[in-house]
Amino acid sequence: CGVFGMYSAPPNDLAWLTYMGLFALQHRGQEAAGMCVSDGEKFHVEKDLGLVTQVFDERRLDSVRLANARVSIGHVRYSTTGSNLRFNAQPLTTRTNKGILGLAHNGNFVNALEVRAEMLNEGALFATTNDSEVMLNLIARESRLDLVEATAAAMKRLKGGYACVLMSRTQLIGFRDPHGVRPLVIGQRGDDAWVLASEPCALYAVGARLIRDVQPGELVWFDRTGLHSLMVDARQPTPCSFEWIYFARSDSRLDGVDTHESRIRMGMQLAREKPVDADVVVPVPDSGIGAAIGYARESGIPFDYGLYKNPYAGRTFIAPTQEARELKVKMKLSPTSAVKGKRVVLIDDSIVRGTTSRQIVNLLREAGATEVHFRVSSPPITHPCFYGIDTAARKELVASTHSIEEIRDLINADTLAFISEQGLRQAIGGPGICSACFTGDYPAGTPLLNDVDKLA
Ligand code: 5GP
Ligand code: SF4
Ligand code: MG
Repeated sequence: CGVFGMYSAPPNDLAWLTYMGLFALQHRGQEAAGMCVSDGEKFHVEKDLGLVTQVFDERRLDSVRLANARVSIGHVRYSTTGSNLRFNAQPLTTRTNKGILGLAHNGNFVNALEVRAEMLNEGALFATTNDSEVMLNLIARESRLDLVEATAAAMKRLKGGYACVLMSRTQLIGFRDPHGVRPLVIGQRGDDAWVLASEPCALYAVGARLIRDVQPGELVWFDRTGLHSLMVDARQPTPCSFEWIYFARSDSRLDGVDTHESRIRMGMQLAREKPVDADVVVPVPDSGIGAAIGYARESGIPFDYGLYKNPYAGRTFIAPTQEARELKVKMKLSPTSAVKGKRVVLIDDSIVRGTTSRQIVNLLREAGATEVHFRVSSPPITHPCFYGIDTAARKELVASTHSIEEIRDLINADTLAFISEQGLRQAIGGPGICSACFTGDYPAGTPLLNDVDKLA
């Protein structure tokens, strides 16, 4: 998912700016979009299933617009299979003793169901099984505390990997889990407007400049006097490695590490670790491009576009069923003449289920590639993510049930090799990474065994 928030002195068209910010974060989720806008009195909410441009046509955008808007938040959602439901769209809003609140979050609170059960015993009421509602309820019931303190108290209770934006009629709050698993950045627009976003690309989209990342375990808030910060609970930083491998936009810099450059380093590392004799390096667009540039640079084998990507196609994994995913591959990719009669090194960022990869290898063979050597810029994904990246349930992860040789056979490649976990760490650099989906070592905790199926 992607989150966005703005705090600004009026007058300002925050509905429009939030739309622009969400549009820049569209790659982080295409299932639903929503926003809240307040001018200190009125509090408007609109959300629905669909792309940002589909949910917010002119009329809908106009319906959340406020002439003297002061605070806004927004969300784009990508959900786990089966929960593609309208009521799951965010931001979630509730009336509390602190007034109306809106919350948008990226990630997962791994102990949300436990905390929810405890709160039910204490007499709390819930409308959904959504983990956002647990967060909002926790904040609401600390009625002795102000909003910032209540949010800090809730952060201490909920574990997991998350980045959130929260708004009241007059305040914007942002907070990031103690390990900084999910990203969140702060920007400034002119002198008197502040922005929070999952990635810097959304800051640039609204004419703001990057100030810094929200730190792991930090809570920030904005009011008439500007930016404030409270360190709630900082642990060893382990930002999600998948952001750099695949998820983040290549023009985003997260926790001091440039996404595009890190992908090139992954490709160079991969070429050193897993070399192969071949004629051309071909990326699976768009997610394999950075690594393919690196692989070509390091190996000296020329880079070429061997696959055309239809720019009107979305991210394939969003398709809900296997059949839909398979059809969508053809909608999205087709081979070019660059592979004819060539030994191809095919580069992609990840193998999740293996089904897309098999189709792509076969496309290249049909187009006349003599050999296809598959190289992957992430290690085999063997474990599910509990922190908000929907890499599928464990039983669907091909690498959790198959050896590399079995996967090679399944995807019909001549050779198959992955970057090592150590190589990936080196290529990213930075303060440390979460690599739980490759190792099973979860830095920010896991759900109780009973709750795993509900969450992953
Ligand atoms: P596969 O061959 O595993 O079906 O698909 C691998 C390709 O699809 C990679 O290019 C990867 O970027 C993308 N992909 C497929 N499914 C998912 C998914 O569930 N989550 C993520 N993050 N990427 C996926
Ligand atoms: Fe990212 Fe994988 Fe960790 Fe999930 S488990 S946060 S996808 S590195
Ligand atoms: Mg891809």
